[in-house]
Amino acid sequence: MLRRMPEKAIRPLIFFELVKSKICLMKRILVSGGAGFIGSHLCTRLVNEGHDVICLDNYYTGSKENIWHLIGRPNFELVRHDIVNPYWAEVDEIYNLACPASPIHYQHDPIQTTKTAVVGSLNMLGLAKRVNAKILQASTSEVYGDPAMHPQREEYWGNVNPVGIRSCYDEGKRCAETLFMDYHRRHGVRVKIIRIFNTYGPRMLAHDGRVVSNFVVQALKGQDLTIYGDGKQTRSFQYVDDLVEGMIRMMENTSDDFLGPINIGNPGEFTMLELAEKVIKLTGSKSRIIFEPLPHDDPRQRKPDISLAKKVLDWEPKVQLDEGLGHMIEYFRSIIDKI
Ligand code: NAD
Ligand code: UDP
Ligand code: UDP
Repeated sequence: MLRRMPEKAIRPLIFFELVKSKICLMKRILVSGGAGFIGSHLCTRLVNEGHDVICLDNYYTGSKENIWHLIGRPNFELVRHDIVNPYWAEVDEIYNLACPASPIHYQHDPIQTTKTAVVGSLNMLGLAKRVNAKILQASTSEVYGDPAMHPQREEYWGNVNPVGIRSCYDEGKRCAETLFMDYHRRHGVRVKIIRIFNTYGPRMLAHDGRVVSNFVVQALKGQDLTIYGDGKQTRSFQYVDDLVEGMIRMMENTSDDFLGPINIGNPGEFTMLELAEKVIKLTGSKSRIIFEPLPHDDPRQRKPDISLAKKVLDWEPKVQLDEGLGHMIEYFRSIIDKI
C-alpha cells in the first residue's frame, strides 16, 4: 500500500519540478543582427522571458547603445561577428535578422548587402542544420517589389527589378528565402519565413533615411518635411512591439510543416502625404512640406494581406499609427539635442 508523503517532503519536490519546468522552457537563442533596431527589441523581450540569448552583430548599422540595457544580464551575451563568415555555437533557435534594412544603408555597399543576405543566411542555415536548431528568416515585403497585386498575399511572386539599385536587397532576400526552403526540403531543417512590412519604433536611426524617422526628426527640429515624388505612394506601417510578438508566435508555432512565408505587417495604408500631415499635427510643429525627386524603383504601394497570420498565428497588430507615432515622437524628443 502506498503511504502518503508528509507535507514537508512534498514541498521541495514541487519546487524542484517548478525549477525543472522553467529550465526546460528556457532556450538558447541566437539573434543575428541583434544590435540593430528590430533585433534590440527582440533581444530585450527574449532576455526578459529568461532565455539564454546570444546577440551576434558586426555593428554595420547597429550599435552597442541599442542593447546597452542588456549588457551585464547573466542570460545575455554579445558577440562581434560578421555572418558572412562561418560561426559555431550550440543553440536551440536562430532568428536571422542581420542585414542592413534602410535603402541608404543597403545601397551604401550593395555587394556586402548581397553577401550578408545570401552567404550570411547560408552560414546561419549551416549552423541550424548542424545543431538541429529551428531558424526564422526576417524576410521582407520588398520581395514583392513594385507589386501588381494589392494588397499583397503570400502567393504573389512579386515584381522585382533584378538589375536596379534596390536589387542587392530585394534579390538578396529572395535568394535567402530560396535557401531556407531548400535547406528544409534537402536537409529537413525546421525553417520559418516571415515577410516584414515597414516597421517603426524607438531606436530607429535618426538619419538612415527611412520615412517615419525622417519626418519625426524633421518636425521636431522645425525643418521642412521632405516628401519624395508626389507623396501619393502608399506604405503600411507597423509598430515594432507588434512585429516582435508576430515573430515569436511564428517561431513558437509547433507545426514543422508550416514554414511560411507569412506576412507580418499592419494593413493600415497611408500615403506619404497623409503621414507627413499626421506627424506635423502630432508634434505641433510649424514645419512645411516640400517635394523632392522620387528615388529609382520606389514601389508605388504596399499593404499586407494578413489573413494567414490571423488564421495560423492568431496574430494581428494592436498598435495603430497615431499611438505608435506618439511613442516615436516621445523617443526622438528625448534625444533630439544629440542628433
Ligand atoms: P538594422 O539595420 O537596424 O539592423 C540590422 C542589424 O544587422 C544591424 O545591427 C547590423 O549591424 C547587423 N548586420 C548587418 N550586416 C551584418 C553582418 N554581415 N553580420 C552581422 N551583423 C550584421 O535594420 P532593422 O530595421 O532592425 O532590420 C532587421 C531585419 O529585419 C533585417 O534583416 C531587415 O531586412 C528586416 N526587415 C526590416 C524591416 C523594417 O521596416 N525595419 C522591414 C522588412 C524587413
Ligand atoms: N556553417 C557555420 N556554422 C556551423 C555549420 C556550418 O557557419 O555550425 C557554415 C559552413 O561553413 C558553410 C555553411 O554554413 O559555409 C553551410 O554549411 P553546410 O554544412 O550546409 O554546407 P557545406 O559546408 O557542406 O558547404
Ligand atoms: N520617403 C519620403 N521622404 C523621406 C523618406 C522616404 O517621401 O524623407 C518615401 C520613400 O520614397 C518611399 C516611402 O517614403 O516611397 C517609404 O520609404 P522608406 O525608405 O521608409 O521605406 P521603403 O521604401 O523601403 O518601403
